[in-house]
Amino acid sequence: MSDADEHGYFGQFGGRFVPEVLVQPLQELEAAMHAAFADESFWSRYGQLLRDYVGRPSPLFVADRLSSSAGGATIVLKREDCNHTGAHKINNTIGQGLLALRMRKTRMIAETGAGQHGVATATTGALLGIPVEVYIGAEDARRQSLNVYLMKLLGATVRVVESGSRTLKDATSEAFRDWAASAGSTFYCIGSVVGAHPYPSLVKRFARVIGDEARAQCQERLGRLPDHVVACVGGGSNAIGIFAAFLGDSQTKLWGVEAAGRGLDSPAENAASLLRGTIGVLHGARTMVLQDGGGQVSATRSIAAGLDYPAVGPEHAHLQASGRVTYVGVDDRQALDAFSELARQEGIVPALESAHAIAHACDLARARPRDEVILVSCSGRGDKDAARFALGEPH
Ligand SMILES: *Cc1c(COP(=O)(O)O)cnc(C)c1O
Repeated sequence: MSDADEHGYFGQFGGRFVPEVLVQPLQELEAAMHAAFADESFWSRYGQLLRDYVGRPSPLFVADRLSSSAGGATIVLKREDCNHTGAHKINNTIGQGLLALRMRKTRMIAETGAGQHGVATATTGALLGIPVEVYIGAEDARRQSLNVYLMKLLGATVRVVESGSRTLKDATSEAFRDWAASAGSTFYCIGSVVGAHPYPSLVKRFARVIGDEARAQCQERLGRLPDHVVACVGGGSNAIGIFAAFLGDSQTKLWGVEAAGRGLDSPAENAASLLRGTIGVLHGARTMVLQDGGGQVSATRSIAAGLDYPAVGPEHAHLQASGRVTYVGVDDRQALDAFSELARQEGIVPALESAHAIAHACDLARARPRDEVILVSCSGRGDKDAARFALGEPH
C-alpha cells in the first residue's frame, strides 16, 4: 500500500503522463534511482551530508507550554525548522544533487513558486559544485524578491518567466521545455512528491528521513509511538516524509492539513486540492487537481506561498481514497493565530505552511487527554514570513 507499483501508480493515481520526448529521460532517471538506492556508498555520502551540512538529526521537542495552552493532549514537534536553510526541502535537493552527480549530469534545473525550492536547489548546487538554473514566474519573482536575491547570491541563474499568468505553472512549463531539449546533460530537480513517475517515489525516499527519525525519537524519548501525526500538505513532501514511517502503525492516526485560504467554499480562494479538487492530470501525474469543469486549472490562494499549488502528490490522493490518512483544511486566519501562538508559547516562529499543521494539532489536543501524543511536522521556520509582515504586507 505504501509504495508505487512498477508503473508508478499508487492505486489509481500517479503514472507518467508526459510528451514522448520525456519518456526516455524518465526511464533513465528511474534506472539510476534504483541503482543509487541499492548502493551503500550513495547512502553513506547522503547520511554524512545530512549530518554535517544539514544538521540532522533534527530535534524532537515536547511543546509543554503550547500543549497546556491548547488544554489537552501532548504536542510534540519534529523540528525541520532547525535544518540548514530552515526547512525540510534540503533533505530532498541534496539527495537529487547526489543522484545528478552519479548520473554525470553537468547542470541542474528547477522551477519554483514560493522560491523555497529554488533556494534549496541553489544551495545544493553550491555545495556540490553543480551549476543551477531556476525558473520562476515574473509575478512570483516580484512577490518573493528575497528568495530571488538568495538564489543569485548562491550562484544560481534565475530565469524569470513572463508568459501566461507568470506564476508557478508557467515556470513549470518552461522547465519541462528546457529538460526536453537538454536531458542528456541536465538533471531536473523536482521539489515535492509530485510529477511523473519516478519523481513521487524519488522525493519520498529522501523526505522519509523525517519520519524515520521521529519514530525512533518518539520510542526513545516517550517510550511509545504517537497517537496522531499531523503535517501540512502543499505538494505533500514533508507530510509523506513523516507519514511514511507510520503507515503500518494502524493505531496511529494520520492527518494531512491543506490550505483553506479564505474558505473551503470560496472557489479560487483556497489551495485544498484533496478536499475540493477532482481527478485530473497535472505535471505528468494523475491526481487530485483544482480545476473547472472544462479541465482548466483553477486559481488558488493561501497566505502560505508553499501551500499555494493547484494539485497534490498522487500518493496523497491514494491515501485519501483508501482512508488511511484524513485530510482537513485550515484557513489563513487559523494559521496566523497558530503562527503567533507558537512564537509566544514556545519561542519558535514556524513557517506559515507549518502553522497550518500546528493549528490542527492544537484543535486535536483540546478535546483529548494529556497522555495522548500528537506529533507535528514543523516543516520550516517563519523568518521569511515575519520579514514580509515587518515590511508592511497585510496579514
Ligand atoms: C515548500 C514548503 C512546504 C510545502 O511543501 P510539501 O512538499 O507539501 O512539504 C511546507 N512547509 C515549508 C516550510 C515549505 O517550505
